[in-house]
Amino acid sequence: MPRLAVAAGLAAVLALSLTAQEPKKDEPKKYKSGDRTRPRPRVVDPGTASTSDAPGRPPADAIVLFDGKDLSAEWVRGGKKADDTKPTWKVENGYAEIVPKGGAIQSIKKFGDCQVHVEWATPKEVKGSDQGRGNSGVYLGGFGEVQVLDSFENDTYPDGQAAALYGKFPPLVNASRKPGEWQTYDIIAHLPKVDEAGKVVRPGRLTVLHNGVLVHHAVEFPGKIGEFGISLQDHGNPVRYRNIWVRKLADYDVGGTPPPEPKKK
Ligand code: MG
Repeated sequence: MPRLAVAAGLAAVLALSLTAQEPKKDEPKKYKSGDRTRPRPRVVDPGTASTSDAPGRPPADAIVLFDGKDLSAEWVRGGKKADDTKPTWKVENGYAEIVPKGGAIQSIKKFGDCQVHVEWATPKEVKGSDQGRGNSGVYLGGFGEVQVLDSFENDTYPDGQAAALYGKFPPLVNASRKPGEWQTYDIIAHLPKVDEAGKVVRPGRLTVLHNGVLVHHAVEFPGKIGEFGISLQDHGNPVRYRNIWVRKLADYDVGGTPPPEPKKK
């Protein structure tokens, strides 16, 4: 074989192998362990944790949906179907309290992959039982309802107790605090991944922590779930909410830069 042809053949093989190493569209670039060219994670002021007396400060990159003062900027009335009217829930002393028959409220903003933080308290004075005791809920579109209920020494069907994915999955444990005490939900939602043909190639997933305790771990939801508004249910009980915020989630290796070199003395 002439030398030129051999060289051309080698070049073709080399080009092919280089092409094979190129990451496919939407596939994250692969880095070797310890690679210092890898983008740094963004710096985020994490805020402060909440206590039973006071809500904490949200992380710096959170979208605050309720800061204890005003619902009207970020919420409208409506559950599954939102309308354009302002919420009629009572806002005082740093929380919003459901006014029964005031209707559900829904965030005006819609979210995809996200981390949701919600704090809630059921009435200190216990009235009713079972599903009639401190019932409300956090709706996340096609993911359904993360149940809010006074489940402290209050029995009901397991997939309807506090922190249940209502009607589907009971929580892994019952991490409820006493009636009247502030409780937290931290919810991590990932929408399903859909390919170009519209086929779901990775199901939607939901992870939930109740008062910092894991109660659902990457529960898979079949079917297509799109971006959603966050709704809080009016089930006729005066449940309170405070400190509601959302962080949009991105993949690894996005957006960060190395910190500046330390100044020489
Ligand atoms: Mg409910």
